[in-house]
Parts: sequence; structure tokens; C-alpha cells
Amino acid sequence: MENLSDYKEIVDLIKANGGEAFKLCYQCGLCDTVCPWNRVRPFSMRKIIREATFGMTDIESDEMWRCTTCGNCPSQCPRGVKIIESGVSLRRIATEYGVFPTSVNPVRSISASLVGEGNPLNEERKNRANWAEGLSVKAFTEEMDVLFFPCCYISYDPRLKKVARATVRILNHAGVDFGILGTKENCCGESIRKTGDEELFKRLAKENIKTFIDHGVKRILVSSPHCYHTFKNEYSEFMVHFEVIHISQFLIELVRDGKLKISGSYGKKVTYHDPCYLGRHHGIYDEPRDLLRQVTELDLIEMPDSFKDSLCCGGGGGRIWMETPKEERFSNLRVRQAVDTGAETLVTACPYCISNYEESRLSLEGEDTLEIKDIAEILQEVIP
Ligand code: SF4
Ligand code: SF4
Repeated sequence: MENLSDYKEIVDLIKANGGEAFKLCYQCGLCDTVCPWNRVRPFSMRKIIREATFGMTDIESDEMWRCTTCGNCPSQCPRGVKIIESGVSLRRIATEYGVFPTSVNPVRSISASLVGEGNPLNEERKNRANWAEGLSVKAFTEEMDVLFFPCCYISYDPRLKKVARATVRILNHAGVDFGILGTKENCCGESIRKTGDEELFKRLAKENIKTFIDHGVKRILVSSPHCYHTFKNEYSEFMVHFEVIHISQFLIELVRDGKLKISGSYGKKVTYHDPCYLGRHHGIYDEPRDLLRQVTELDLIEMPDSFKDSLCCGGGGGRIWMETPKEERFSNLRVRQAVDTGAETLVTACPYCISNYEESRLSLEGEDTLEIKDIAEILQEVIP
């Protein structure tokens, strides 16, 4: 016979790790109907919650690692269950015990890279600012207007470095007084926190905060909605406040103030994908679209599942580092949706989305029918 006190102990452990809100759930199942996983395979957050409520969580299973923290179900839950935070509480327990299913194993080496080099890509810290070579980007000083904080992917990934370089060209063209911290930056820590590694998140965050304070940083311009989220919502847990601006907000402001003149045209059909951490998590839907509407001859068309119903790319919640079989990738569905609208360009504003869509683009018949761009790359093409 099972020992009931074991279950009680697990319930207490889940509560202690932040899963208290599970008990509000009344098992309506709405979360499962809106979850993108159910478009590619069966998955039940409702079941995970039920098991956790009774202390019957299997910490060795893949299931609790599936949630991409896309934000779709918590925004619809009639009981206000903090589904993302509660799901992370289970991952914290697994992380504490060092139990990872095979698909999650890559997170171990990601953590080691974050500890050793401050980035998840196993790249050397000393190369963090190499993306800026030849662009005369200045080191940030206190007198400057804004710190540009490109995330790890944009700093190191060969495809995404183009986004950092495009951003710098636009900022220079508009005469923005900005600098970078280069090798002094760490990963923001957002995604590793979602895998349950609270200790590593705190370490990365504290080091970044110290660097920001030491350099007199007050405003931070970010390309990644994940940096945006954690600087804005999570670094405040350390009793600090920085003004955080996403590049889409910053650029439309420059255009409206007459500081950034758009002169060229972009004669293509374009569709915009709302990244979860920009749209659903922060309500930033209009700025990227307003920016695209400023471009002459750019024909902006909407996909199904847009704005608050945006289809997740699959990269949030640390899933960018986990293994997902090809037939289970949401990003494959999304690039298909983009092609079906007749769009020639799928534009977005998040490095994880771009990575996933670039890979899914290869699964399309005639991969050249669709190009994937960051919003800064489009803007770069239409300024003198
Ligand atoms: S939508 Fe909310 S109340 Fe309904 S099953 Fe999901 S977590 Fe529980
Ligand atoms: S947050 Fe998104 S991925 Fe996670 S369970 Fe809810 S709908 Fe599914």
C-alpha cells in the first residue's frame, strides 16, 4: 500500500516551490483546449495540475517540461490559476534532484555554459561583442541616453548577429546616443529560470544588476522580449528599477518624433508574428504593426492566430534548448500559416522566434517562398 504521508510531503514540497495556486483549479479543462501542444500531440496541463494537487507528480516524466510558458492558458483560466509559475514549481523540484528526462538533458550543458561564460551557447565571454566589429559602437557610459542590450542569441548566433548589426545601423542613422556593455553582460536569465534553476537565475540577475548600477544604467533597449520581460518584471524582485524599452517601441517613437526617416519602399506582402513575451505577456501588439505600416508599399496581412491568440513558436520556457521532434514543432505550423496568407516575409521581433522559424522554413516545400526577418532588418532596408 502506498504511504499517504509521502504524497503529503510532495504536496508540501510543491507548495514550498511556488505551486500553491494549483489548489484553485477546478479542472474545467479550458487550459487544454487553448494549449498549442494539442495541435501537435495530446497534452494536458489540467492533468499535471490534478496530479500535483494530490502529490502524485512524476518528476521523471517529459510532461511537466512541455509548457512553453506561452501565456495562452493563464489568460483564459476562469480560476486565475498561476499556471506558468505553478508549472515552474515542479521543474524546480526536478532541478533540485537533478532529474531530467532525455529531451531535457541539453539543459545541463546550457547551465554549465551560463555559469562559465554567461551565455547558453557555449561561446566565450571575450567574444560577446564581436558582432559589433567595424560598426564603431561605443562602450556604455553614464552620460549616454540608453544602453543597448542585445541578448545572447543576437550577440553570438551567426544568423541573429545580423539583427544586432541592423539595429546599430538604425540607431546611428537616427543619431541615438547609445552604448553597449559587451563582455560585461550576462544572459538575462529569463529562460533558465523557467527551467526551474532559480539559483542560477539569481546569480545571473545579480551580476547584471551590479554591472548596470556600476555603469549608471537607467534605460535599457532590448531586442528580445525575454530580456524585456525579466528586466521589467523580475529584476524588480531585487529592489531595483530600470526603464526597459523593446526595439519595436523605440523605433516607432523615433519615427513619430521625426528622428528616423523612412525613405525606401518594401514592395512585398508581409505578415507579422506576435511573440508570446511581447504580445500576450506585455500587450505590445500595435507598435510593431504601426512601424511596418510606415513603410511604403509594404502590404501587411494577418495570419490566423494573431494578437492575443498568437500561436507560440515553441521556444519559450526553456524549450528553445530542449529536443522537440519535427512533427511536434509549433513553428512548422506557423510558417505554413504564413505561407497560406500569401506572405513573402514572416516578420517578428524575438530571437527565439527567428531561430525556430528559420529552421521550420527548411521544412517547407520550396523554402525560398518565405523569408524570415526581424523588424529591425526590415527597417534597415528602408532607411537611406
Ligand atoms: S483553465 Fe484553470 S481552472 Fe480550468 S483546468 Fe485549467 S488551470 Fe484548472
Ligand atoms: S502556458 Fe501555453 S504552453 Fe503552457 S500549458 Fe498554457 S497554453 Fe500550454
